[in-house]
Amino acid sequence: MALKHTEIAVIGGGIIGCAVAYYTAKLGYDVTIIEKNELASGTSSHCDGNILAIDKDPGFDSQMSLKSQELVLALTGELPMAFEYRKPGSILVCETEDEMQAAERWVNLQKEAGLPFRMLDRSDLREESKYLADDLHGGLECASDSTVNPYLLTYALYEGARRYGAELLNHTTVTGMHYDNEQYTIETDQHTFTAKYVVNCGGVWAPRIGRMLDLDIPIHPRKGHILVASRQVPVSPRKVMEFGYLISKFGGKRHVDEATEKYGVALVFEPTQSQNFLLGSSREFTGFDTSVDWDVVKSIARRCMRFYPKLSDMSLIRMYAGMRPWTEDHLPIVSKVDEYPGYYIAAGHEGDGISLAAITGKIISEMINEDPTSIETEPLRYERFNQKGVRV
Ligand SMILES: Cc1cc2nc3c(=O)[nH]c(=O)nc-3n(C[C@H](O)[C@H](O)[C@H](O)COP(=O)(O)OP(=O)(O)OC[C@H]3O[C@@H](n4cnc5c(N)ncnc54)[C@H](O)[C@@H]3O)c2cc1C
Repeated sequence: MALKHTEIAVIGGGIIGCAVAYYTAKLGYDVTIIEKNELASGTSSHCDGNILAIDKDPGFDSQMSLKSQELVLALTGELPMAFEYRKPGSILVCETEDEMQAAERWVNLQKEAGLPFRMLDRSDLREESKYLADDLHGGLECASDSTVNPYLLTYALYEGARRYGAELLNHTTVTGMHYDNEQYTIETDQHTFTAKYVVNCGGVWAPRIGRMLDLDIPIHPRKGHILVASRQVPVSPRKVMEFGYLISKFGGKRHVDEATEKYGVALVFEPTQSQNFLLGSSREFTGFDTSVDWDVVKSIARRCMRFYPKLSDMSLIRMYAGMRPWTEDHLPIVSKVDEYPGYYIAAGHEGDGISLAAITGKIISEMINEDPTSIETEPLRYERFNQKGVRV
């Protein structure tokens, strides 16, 4: 098999790999993306497209999102392809007074951190959409939230990287790796590569790629379903989630029926640019399984109709499930690896990889280039799992 050399081997052509390729190629590095299928064939085409701060933990998590939102706005002018960018803000709606009180605490914390949050009352919701259920108590808004087509953004990032000289090898599976004489030898089913730097952007498969060097990367697949409803009436102009989504995401206890709790279902409503509606979603640990489960689909449909009764008149075009790359502390791993100079991990973004792709690509490029990073990176270090003993 042919031996090829590249300065940076990016393993995985999802949104994270393409963002890493874009920002490193832009700095002048010789970059090759190695992808076992097609670009965006993994989680990055089985998801929604929200670039959100509204659902991020106040503090580091939301600051990182804010920075990424700024970078995505800049990408609209930098990348050679459009990716359906819009910035309508997003809202969370509350079913009870308890949720309203929790929402108020959430808004105050985010406002203190400088984010554009505000509370919404019943009349604000009525103005938002006449199709929202009448009994909702209110909600909250984050004005900086934006949305993209994640599939197109992945391709746009790649196209940007390609124009800076990056190469893509599709249908090329990385099968083995070793480190010797300050360089990596990467075995694939097509070629053998040598590389000075390796960036593991394998999403839920990052642990398998890590094991090739005996690294234990604690990322697990967390399945999520999405239903696509056809356009019929303009149900809501922008992203709407229920407050309980935060509880599902961060693992708290909700007061909902058994199926909703069991499948981790919470309303996520997203109008696409073409005004079809993405309806979600669920959160389950079921291994590497992306088959559609009808019980989960029914549970999501019921939950969406509770918030938007009008949806009961609308038809579904299709449904799909993807695997979120989950870590125990809900933060991705964007990090060098101390034992292997030149080896980086950019994976584990759970439900936030579209939101955080830009900042992830940017800080990996800064780390490789030994520049100061755009945000603090200590909370994203791979070694944090060893230190806290939270390896799972
Ligand atoms: C239902 C659902 C809704 C979501 N909604 C949102 C949202 O609104 N906003 C948001 O920010 N995030 C959202 N997410 C999360 C987001 O989709 C992910 O965090 C993101 O797509 C992860 O991107 P990635 O590049 O790390 O992984 P992937 O897109 O999975 O890319 C990894 C790539 O690595 C390749 N690969 C694996 N092993 C090898 C190998 N050995 N050799 C070569 N290639 C390999 C795979 O083929 C794959 O293409 C959602 C996820 C789901 C499931």
